[in-house]
Amino acid sequence: MEASPSTDRIARPAVRQRVVIVGGGTAGWMAAAALARFVPASTRITLIESDAIGTVGVGEATIPGIRLFNQMLGLDEAEFLRATHGSFKLGIRFEGWSGEGSGYLHAFGSIGRGLGLVPFHHYWLRGGGAANPASLWGHMASAQAAMAGRFAPEPGRPDLPSGLAWAYHFDASLYAALLRRHAEAMGVVRIEGKIASVARDTAGRIDHVALEGGHREPGDLFIDCSGFRALLIGETLAEPFDDWSEHLPCDRALAVAGERASPLPPYTRAIAHGAGWRWRIPLQHRTGNGLVYDSRHLSEDEATDRLLTALGRQALGDPRALRFTTGRRRRAWVGNCVALGLAAGFLEPLESTSIHLIQSGIARLLDYWPAPMLQPVELDAYNAETAAEWQAVRDFLILHYHANARNEPFWAERRAVPLPESLAARIALFRANGRFRREGEELFAEAAWVQVMIGQGILPAGHHALADALSAHELDDFLSLTRRHAAQVAARLPTHDAFIAAHCAVPVQK
Ligand code: FAD
Repeated sequence: MEASPSTDRIARPAVRQRVVIVGGGTAGWMAAAALARFVPASTRITLIESDAIGTVGVGEATIPGIRLFNQMLGLDEAEFLRATHGSFKLGIRFEGWSGEGSGYLHAFGSIGRGLGLVPFHHYWLRGGGAANPASLWGHMASAQAAMAGRFAPEPGRPDLPSGLAWAYHFDASLYAALLRRHAEAMGVVRIEGKIASVARDTAGRIDHVALEGGHREPGDLFIDCSGFRALLIGETLAEPFDDWSEHLPCDRALAVAGERASPLPPYTRAIAHGAGWRWRIPLQHRTGNGLVYDSRHLSEDEATDRLLTALGRQALGDPRALRFTTGRRRRAWVGNCVALGLAAGFLEPLESTSIHLIQSGIARLLDYWPAPMLQPVELDAYNAETAAEWQAVRDFLILHYHANARNEPFWAERRAVPLPESLAARIALFRANGRFRREGEELFAEAAWVQVMIGQGILPAGHHALADALSAHELDDFLSLTRRHAAQVAARLPTHDAFIAAHCAVPVQK
C-alpha cells in the first residue's frame, strides 16, 4: 500500500545555521557582507572583532574582479569611491625591474584584438614587435589611457574591443567600515571583544570561541579572518603552513602615508630597489607608500632611510613596520573552519592580489555552501581549487623577480634560484613561439602574463604559424588599426582628476 504524502512527511524545525566570523578586517567584513547577501535568511551570522587588536589596513590596490564583488552587493561605484577615498586603477607600472630607468605597464584588459584563433601578440611578433618591445602597449587602450593620466568608463565598440578594464585604489579600513554598515543593515551581529580561547568538540571540530569577558559564541561554521595570527586554522587546528620564501624571500614591509599625488595617476607604481620594491598607491586624499624588502639584504634602519629618502618631504608621519612569511595554509578549509585573508596565507602585494583572493575564497565558499556539513570529497575539491589558484598567483609573482636585469646581490640571487617546474614550463613555452596556456580558473589572463613576460625581457623566438595567414600589407593595416584605435580611445577620455571631480570626489570637510 502506498503511504499517503501527509503521513510520510517528517516535521522538522527550520534549520538555523550559525556562522561565526572571527576578525573584522577587510576579509571579515567582505565575508560578512557577502554571506548576509547570499546565504539563506535562516542563517545567523556573527562577527567578532577586537578594536584593541586592530587590523592590517594598509594600501590598498586591487584588480578588476573587485567590481563584480561590489556589484553583487549592490554598492554604487561613486558612493563606494567617495566612502573609501578611492581612485581608479588601469594597471600597475613596474619601474626599474630591468635596471634603473626601465619600465613597463601591466595594464588591465585585452591587447589589441585577436583574429580568430590566434591572440593578438602573435601578429605583433610577426610584425617585428620583439625588436621594439615597448610598442606592445601602443595597441592597448588601457595602457595608453593610464600613461596619459586619463580615465572614464569606456563602453567600447563591439567590432573593436577597447580593452578598458579597471579596478580601484582605496583605503582598506574605510572599505571595511563601509561593508560593516552594509552587513549590519542586513542582519549581521557584531561582537566587540578579544577571543581568549577556542573550544573543540570530541570530533575535533570547533565548538565555540570564548571572549575575555566570558561570553561564549557557539557555531556550526567558523570563518577564520583573524589576520596573520590565524587563531583558528593555525593556532587551534594546527594546519601546516607551506612556506614559499625560497621563491619569494621578501619578509618585511614599511608603510607610510604620503601627500596626495597631483595629477592623480590611474595606476599603481611598483618601483624596484636594491633588495625588493616599493609601492605608490594614489588615493584621493593621500598616497599610500610602502617598501617591501628582504631582511637578509637590508636592515630596518636602512629600509626606513631608503623609503624616506625616496619620498623626500612627502611622508606624513613615521613608517609602520610589518613582518610576514610568504606562503599559505596547506588546506584553507579544515573541518568546520574556513580561512580567508591573511589567516589563509600571504603573498606580497606586487600584483594586488590579496583582496582578490579573499573574494574568490568567498565565492568558492558560497559555491560549496555546506548544508549543514560538506562531504570529504567536497572539502578536498574546495582545497584543491584554492591551492591551484594560490600557486598560479605565486608563480606569476616569481616571474617578476626571476626575469630581472639588476646588478645587486639580491637580484642576482633571484635570477639564480631554480624556478618551480610549473613556471619554468610556462616560460619555456612562451620563449619558443609566444604560446601561453591558462590552467583551470587561474586568476591572471594571457594578456597579463604576456605583458609581464615581455616587459621583463622574455621575448619569444617565433610566433604562431597561423599569424602568417595575413599578407604583409594586411598585417600592416591590422597593426596600425589597433594602434590608432587604442590612441583614439585614450584621447577622448577626460583626465583621471577631472572624472573623479565630476563623479565621485570626497566632499571637502569644512
Ligand atoms: P587583518 O586586517 O589583520 O584583520 C584581522 C582581524 O582579526 C582584526 O579585526 C582583529 O581585531 C581580529 N582579531 C585577531 N585576533 C583576534 C582575537 N583574539 N579576538 C578578536 N579579534 C581578533 N592587499 C591587496 O589586495 N592590495 C594591496 O595593495 C595590499 N597591500 C598590502 C601591503 C602589506 C604590507 C600587507 C601586509 C598586506 C597588503 N595587502 C594588500 C593584504 C591586505 O591588507 C589583507 O589581505 C587584507 O587587509 C585582509 O586582512 P585580514 O582581514 O585578513 O586581516
